[in-house]
Amino acid sequence: MGDGNLTDRGTALIPGGWQHMNTIQSKSILGVKISAVDTATALASIEDFIHGGRPHMVVTADSSCVVLAQRDHELREIINAADLVTPDSTGILWAARRFGIPLPERVSGVDIVEFLCETAARSGYRIFLLGAAPGVAEAAAEKLTQRYPGLIVAGTHHGFFRPEESASVVQKIREAKPHILFVAMGIPLQEKWIYRHLEELQVPVSMGVGGTFDVISGRVKRAPKWMQRHGLEWFFRLAHSPRKIRKCAALPIFVLMVLGTNAGKIGTRNSS
Ligand code: UDP
Repeated sequence: MGDGNLTDRGTALIPGGWQHMNTIQSKSILGVKISAVDTATALASIEDFIHGGRPHMVVTADSSCVVLAQRDHELREIINAADLVTPDSTGILWAARRFGIPLPERVSGVDIVEFLCETAARSGYRIFLLGAAPGVAEAAAEKLTQRYPGLIVAGTHHGFFRPEESASVVQKIREAKPHILFVAMGIPLQEKWIYRHLEELQVPVSMGVGGTFDVISGRVKRAPKWMQRHGLEWFFRLAHSPRKIRKCAALPIFVLMVLGTNAGKIGTRNSS
């Protein structure tokens, strides 16, 4: 995205050296790009984006996101133009297996945020937290700095601002000069906001992270590991927050779409 085309980029660690740009293969599931990455490759790619310096966009895509992108063409184009789209649900992994294009593993937004904060604390990368209700980003920042001593949180801002306030939010982020911007405003708002402001933000990595600040701040509990492993996170979320019904309703739609999909909508991309 940084160079305005649909090139997929990635990195591989080279022995004794820093990093070597190579290609991330991406799959297309129901017309939506998903990068064939595991957590380690995703993190290496993001670090490479940071070192590259130009603005990059990272999306974490789950099944409901793919369903939404079927009717929201703007969202689909944004995802397909992103530099990295991690497979963020067991539903995506299942669909990929069924299409004969298996993906390595689930790479969730919460995990990426945690791993990136650990790396950031070690390497001096500055992070900015944008999104969630007033006070939540600050609470998440506090938890993260306790967990990762040395982590520099360059700034925070809530996610309930009016469109006409976007310019001042962008300005606040630019002045904070973060290396990584986490945007937690939910799909598709966060992706559209990042895409619209990507160039002016001048942040090497901007990433939509959904309800992650609510989880990190402790306001929302994450499903136990066994539920995550068995693809039951949606059930846990629904039980704790019945207003999630619309998001959960996307799951059977996703399954039906995958079962009814012909080979024409499936593909593998591998560009450099
Ligand atoms: N949110 C926001 N601005 C808005 C609407 C929502 O910052 O205008 C926040 C909301 O407070 C929550 C997050 O976006 O923290 C969305 O979380 P959710 O779990 O619904 O997102 P998902 O991960 O399902 O995309």
